[in-house]
Amino acid sequence: MVTDLLEEAGEVAAVVKGLEGLKPPDKSKTREMLSKELSDLLYIIFVLAEHYGLELEETFLQTVNDYVLRFIK
Ligand SMILES: [Mg+2]
Repeated sequence: MVTDLLEEAGEVAAVVKGLEGLKPPDKSKTREMLSKELSDLLYIIFVLAEHYGLELEETFLQTVNDYVLRFIK
């Protein structure tokens, strides 16, 4: 599962590099492709969490809150 996660992260990176023109893509990258790859990555993250019996929702909301507070300061 961790290798799947890394593979999906790599796919996200490839699309972002294409969108930013940092790497000539084999075919043009779109924001929709980025959305799909981010969704793939998020899915794997939730599958990994579930495998270890973790409920990510509460932790994730706390993380978002921590970031929001960091930017408010
Ligand atoms: Mg993917």
